[in-house]
Amino acid sequence: MELHGHLLYIDITQICGIGCAFCMYADKHKTGMSMELSTLARENLAALINAPSVKRISISGEGEPLNNAKVFHEILGLSNGGRRFEFITSGFFPHEKMASFYEETDRIVAANGDVCNIRLSADSHHIEKVKWRAHGFSLDYLKHRQPSALSFSFRSIDTDRHFTREYLVEEAKRWGLDADIVPLGPLEDVLVVDGQRFGIDYKNLVHPDADTAHKYLDMHGYIEAIEAKINKRFTFGSLNKPPQANGMDLTVKPNGDLYLYGIENQRLGNIHFDRVRWEHLATHIRETPLARALYTQPLTDLLARCDDTALVQSILVKANNPYWLVKELANHEGLLEQMVSA
Ligand code: SF4
Repeated sequence: MELHGHLLYIDITQICGIGCAFCMYADKHKTGMSMELSTLARENLAALINAPSVKRISISGEGEPLNNAKVFHEILGLSNGGRRFEFITSGFFPHEKMASFYEETDRIVAANGDVCNIRLSADSHHIEKVKWRAHGFSLDYLKHRQPSALSFSFRSIDTDRHFTREYLVEEAKRWGLDADIVPLGPLEDVLVVDGQRFGIDYKNLVHPDADTAHKYLDMHGYIEAIEAKINKRFTFGSLNKPPQANGMDLTVKPNGDLYLYGIENQRLGNIHFDRVRWEHLATHIRETPLARALYTQPLTDLLARCDDTALVQSILVKANNPYWLVKELANHEGLLEQMVSA
């Protein structure tokens, strides 16, 4: 099995005071923890970040990662150069503080010869909760301050796209910028501002309310939309366009625990206590039946082996996102075994 072009997610905090109604991690926000880096954690993260087969390092959280900006900047400092970072945020800081955060981030990333994309949530759920909105501000910041190593993009869980499109165009206008939307596919738009292009990615909301579920793609519709975007069948792993093979999708949790993204019933170690390298994780995928099946066989083929029961159908309707699906199937004895048994 070829594995190349890995994605490393680092969830640096569980703290968040924003309170989006849909949040899957709300139970962790008040008493949750933020990542701190031990000596071994630094060594492990440096090895994971600097491996040549890593395509991107994505910093986010089970909370708002701006609440642990210090560790984000420490992680950026572990790079030996030539890395692509991404920071996923609601951008809730007051604008002056946001500008200082951008400056410091740009300084570290540029000095190391890396780049960092700031990916701002731009959906109706976040926007109604955030007082200081960073979208128009960030476009203006880019235009006037011209940071050498920062770029911006947007993400949304409004798959009907109406809200996000109107909001971003209006926001740009409020900051004196001419903007337009160019649709690219069922899960992608581009915001064009004064001739410059900014990506907008749409994701399905997990567990939509019964009265809003019709606005989202169902599990099979969502998988089809992803397959149309990547031009191949959907399997787990970090998706790369053909002819490139997929890579590994590794998540580091705020307490240092490691999981393959979406396979959270199998803990793979901890960055504070174990020596972690991509080669060990590749061996795990090759030798573990569940991970191997999910990484090598299209998910819709695997689901066809177990979707004939009312229980699986009810999980499919609610989970609405392939990466949450496995987590929920794992709560019911025998379902995952049935799915991966040849
Ligand atoms: S900003 Fe993110 S972590 Fe915070 S409540 Fe909203 S979805 Fe949850």
